[in-house]
Amino acid sequence: MSNKSPLATILKIETNSPFPDEIHYKIQFKGCPLNCIWCNSPALKSKKIEIVPNETICVHCMACVSDCPTTGIINLNNQIHIQSNYCIGCMSCVEICPRGALKPIGKKVSIISLLNQLLPKKPSNDQNKKKLQVTLSGGEILSQSTFILALLKQLKEHFFFTICETTGYAKPDDFKKLLSYTDLLHFSLAHYNSQKHFEMTGVSNEIILRNLSTALYTHKNITICIPIVQMVNDDLEDAKKFADLLTRLGANRIKVKYFKKCGFETYLPLLPSDITTSQAHQKILTYIETLKKEGLEYSF
Ligand code: SF4
Ligand code: SF4
Repeated sequence: MSNKSPLATILKIETNSPFPDEIHYKIQFKGCPLNCIWCNSPALKSKKIEIVPNETICVHCMACVSDCPTTGIINLNNQIHIQSNYCIGCMSCVEICPRGALKPIGKKVSIISLLNQLLPKKPSNDQNKKKLQVTLSGGEILSQSTFILALLKQLKEHFFFTICETTGYAKPDDFKKLLSYTDLLHFSLAHYNSQKHFEMTGVSNEIILRNLSTALYTHKNITICIPIVQMVNDDLEDAKKFADLLTRLGANRIKVKYFKKCGFETYLPLLPSDITTSQAHQKILTYIETLKKEGLEYSF
């Protein structure tokens, strides 16, 4: 692989291997063009590495300010202040801080560095016999499409089982390439109605449905994930309309995630607090039953 191979920004890599004969990694990529009202992962929104200062241990020496090659960090009334628009993520401030008061959120990775982390170290090691699985998650992974597609190609060459999580909000050509390298697709669909989809996520659903339709036509292993948000798309009428659309497109497997409250409550100031957990639980079970009655299989 050439030295010019692309870089991406990730939040973290987790290892979760519930079965003894497999190793499962999950890589969370930063960057998402959607503004979902239930999102509780603001660190995934920006593709950039963000610097978070800890004022309680900062001694205001301003070494970071002097060392910054841009005006990414400035002295404002003897307090440090991050100007993320100017920050280029060089990490000089993080490295020079004598107190460790600056924490980077995210890091840059190359395909080679990721493969070095994911592949078993020694060929003779027992780990080498284990099945390798990796989930690429976000954010929206295709917001870093050049990297993601190149990484997936490498992962398949190394015999990984690949799982991709997407909102489907991507260029159709990139999306088709993603499908060709993906063994299992988790496709999140917020709403069947374009205007409502826009209200929930900041984008309409035309391109998303086009990509979903392509996925269902060409790819057998797909789970559609519906984020059900209280008072937004949690009516049984919504379940029926979701089922109508999904069965028409050829989907057969769904899962749901229920959000009683949104991560950022200010986005939804009208949320009621009078629904109890058991009421919400019952409602969601009925919702799932409605989807199942229409022929959709429920996946946990
Ligand atoms: S990461 Fe680099 S550009 Fe950003 S604030 Fe720190 S020194 Fe400045
Ligand atoms: S270098 Fe560290 S301790 Fe000094 S002002 Fe910057 S954040 Fe504070």
